[in-house]
Amino acid sequence: MNKKLVVGNWKMNLTVPESTILIEKLKKELVKVRHAEVVVCPTFLDIYAASKELTGGDISVGAQNVYHEESGAYTGEISVVQIQNFAKYVIVGHSERRALFGETDKMIAKKAAAAVSHDIVPIICVGETYHEKGDGLSKVVVMSQLETALSQLTAAEIAGIVIAYEPVWAIGTGLSCKPGEIENMAKNIRGLVSALYGKEASEGLRVLYGGSVNDANAPEISGVSGIDGVLVGGASLDHKKFSAIVKAFDKGPAKAMAAKKTKKKAGK
Ligand code: PEP
Repeated sequence: MNKKLVVGNWKMNLTVPESTILIEKLKKELVKVRHAEVVVCPTFLDIYAASKELTGGDISVGAQNVYHEESGAYTGEISVVQIQNFAKYVIVGHSERRALFGETDKMIAKKAAAAVSHDIVPIICVGETYHEKGDGLSKVVVMSQLETALSQLTAAEIAGIVIAYEPVWAIGTGLSCKPGEIENMAKNIRGLVSALYGKEASEGLRVLYGGSVNDANAPEISGVSGIDGVLVGGASLDHKKFSAIVKAFDKGPAKAMAAKKTKKKAGK
């Protein structure tokens, strides 16, 4: 049984000393966590320091973005070569990068391929906007984003990556997706991957949900079938809230089985 994955995206928040303080608090709070994998994604400025502070522990570091070229005249960009010794994961195609910085599915595909080729696990974000959802286009939009984003990877590579379903309307709004909708989209994601790349790829990849996850809704989301964890924005900046989310996903085989039985009994 794979560990559940809980990723904190700190976005453009925290100075380096503030990050150090948060890391120290998280290390203390999460010392007993055994069945969840925890990742924090600080700004590029803090990746090196964070990776040193977390060396030898159970929390890993991720980057929030990366450029697909390895080096050269790309002012202001950071390459996979530069982060590969410090980051185990990298978020690519976050909706803020798509909306504010013009990232396209093709660019995201290049970033994902560059990450994989340097042994960094890409967390590819996909999700529909409020209007697309209103027009009944959620599935069409997400499938189209996914198809292009995966287009430069092999089936074996896809088996090792992470897809984060993050409806844009749920990010930072306090409006979380309903468990049934999350479950359906996870099924659609695996269905597309299975059709295009085969069963091994679809069963190997991990699917996260992201969008206003907090300490109150994490227990319910942790029970959604087909979901392997969460990508957390705002609540990841608060060590108590983030730790509570991690603990909701810290289920060993016995606890997971008990939760499944309770769900079955309740007819959910
Ligand atoms: C995010 O930005 O990826 C995110 C999920 O944010 P929030 O948890 O604040 O909605």
